[in-house]
Amino acid sequence: MSKIVVIGANHAGTATINTILDNYEGNEVVAFDGNSNISFLGCGMALWIGNQISGPDGLFYQTKEQFEQKGATVHMECPVERVDFDAKVVYAKDKDGIEYAEPYDKLVLATGSLPIIPKFEGGDLENIQQVKLFQNAQEVVNKLKDSSIKTVAVVGAGYIGVELAEAFQRNGRHTLLVDMAPTCMANNFDPEFCDRMAKNLADNGIECHFGEGVDHFEGTDGKVSKIVTNKGAYDVDMVCVCIGFKPNNALVAQSGMELFANGAIVVDRHQQTSIPDVYAVGDCATIFNNGLDGAPGYIALASNAVRSGIVAGHNICGTDIQTPGVQGSSGICIFDLKMVSTGLTESAAKRAGVEVLTTTVTDCQKAPFIEHDNPDTTIKIVYDKATRAILGAQLASTYDMSGNINMFSLAVAKKVTIDELALLDIFFLPHFNAPYNYMTVAALQAE
Ligand SMILES: Cc1cc2nc3c(=O)[nH]c(=O)nc-3n(C[C@H](O)[C@H](O)[C@H](O)COP(=O)(O)OP(=O)(O)OC[C@H]3O[C@@H](n4cnc5c(N)ncnc54)[C@H](O)[C@@H]3O)c2cc1C
Repeated sequence: MSKIVVIGANHAGTATINTILDNYEGNEVVAFDGNSNISFLGCGMALWIGNQISGPDGLFYQTKEQFEQKGATVHMECPVERVDFDAKVVYAKDKDGIEYAEPYDKLVLATGSLPIIPKFEGGDLENIQQVKLFQNAQEVVNKLKDSSIKTVAVVGAGYIGVELAEAFQRNGRHTLLVDMAPTCMANNFDPEFCDRMAKNLADNGIECHFGEGVDHFEGTDGKVSKIVTNKGAYDVDMVCVCIGFKPNNALVAQSGMELFANGAIVVDRHQQTSIPDVYAVGDCATIFNNGLDGAPGYIALASNAVRSGIVAGHNICGTDIQTPGVQGSSGICIFDLKMVSTGLTESAAKRAGVEVLTTTVTDCQKAPFIEHDNPDTTIKIVYDKATRAILGAQLASTYDMSGNINMFSLAVAKKVTIDELALLDIFFLPHFNAPYNYMTVAALQAE
C-alpha cells in the first residue's frame, strides 16, 4: 500500500494513474493538474480548426469523474507550486486559494511540455496565438468566426505547423507558412520527402516562406497586422507560433535532479529519476532512442507519453518493467499526402556522426495491373554501414500505406538487418501491394 501523488494528469499522467488503478489494489492515488480539463488530444486541434471534424467533444478520452469512480482523488485547476523532495511533500494551491500539503511515498512528475515562445518585438499583440491546450484551440476557433481575419501566418513548419497551415487554408484563410529552415518537417524526414510536402503545400495554395526567420511583429490598434522576417514583410491578421516545445521542469529546477541538455528530466528504463521514489513520464522526461542505439534523447509525442506512463505505473506498484525505448515513429496526412517515418533519417544520422547507407524505391502501391487507386509510393530505408541494421525508414504516398511504418519501427527496435528484410515473408494480394513490393525491392537492391 503506497500513497502515490501524480503531478499532471494529461496523457502521461492519465496512463500512469489508470495503470495503477486498473492493475493494483490498495494504493492511494492523488493527482493534481493546473488545467481544467484532462486528456485533450492536441492532434485533433488542426482537424477542428480546419472543419474536418464537427467539434472538439471527441478530443477527450478521460474525465476527473472516471478517475474518482476508480478511487483516485483528483484536484483540477490546482497547480503544484513546489515539492519538498527531502520531506516528500507536494504543495499546491487551487483556484479558490485552498492550499494542499500532500505527503507521498512515490511521486510521478507528468508535467509535460511548454511551447517555446521567443521574445519577438510585438510578440504580445492580440491575435498572436499559441497552440498547445484545448483553450488555445478554442480561442483560435472563436476568433476565426470574425471574417475580418483573412490572412494567417503559421510560424514553424514542423509537423504541427504544417498541420495548422493546412487547417487555416481549409478554413478559407489565406495562409503563410514561415520557417527559417530551408524546408518543412526537416526533423522527421530527409530533404526529398520534405520537398515533396513543401510542393504539396504550395500546390494547395499555402504561401511557403522557408529560409526566412521572423524578426518582429507589427500591429494596428493592438492587433497583429504584419509579420516581418529577414527577407520581407507580410500583412497578416493572425499568427500561430509553433516552433517547438520544451520540457516543463519548473518544479525540479532547484532540486539537483539530473536533467538532460534541453532540461528534460533524465529517467532510467523504469522511468525513475535521479531522486529516489520520484518518477517522470511523458514530455517532461527523456526517452531512450533506439535509432541512436538506445541513447537518451527527447521526443515529445503522445504515443511515447502514454507508454512511459504504463511503464512507470507498473514499476511503482512493484512489477519490474523496463521501457524498450522508442523509434520516434510519426505520421502526417496533409491534403491527402501521407508521410510516415521511424528511427533515423539520413540527415539525422549525419548530424549524429553515424555512418549509414540508404536505399530508395518508388513504385506503384499495388500490382501494376490494378488500374484504379494505385498511386506511387516512395520508400527510403536507412541502415548502418557497418552492421547493416535498419536504423530508420520513411514512406510517402497518397495511398494509406501508413501501417508499413510499424514494421520498420519494430525492425529498428530489434536491430533487424537490411538483408533479413530482403527475404522477409511479406504477403501479396493485388488489392494491397505488388509481388515484388517496394519494401522487398528496396532491401534487395541495397548495396
Ligand atoms: C497541436 C499538437 C498536435 C500534436 N499531435 C500529436 C500527434 O499527432 N501524435 C502524437 O503522438 N503527439 C502529438 N502531439 C504531442 C502530444 O500532445 C504531447 O506529446 C503530449 O501532450 C504529452 O503528454 P504529457 O502528458 O506528457 O504532457 P502535457 O500534455 O504537456 O500535459 C502535462 C500536464 O501537466 C499539467 N501540469 C504542468 N505543470 C503542473 C503543475 N505544476 N501542477 C499541476 N499540473 C501541472 C498540465 O496542466 C498538463 O495537463 C501534439 C501536440 C500538439 C500541441
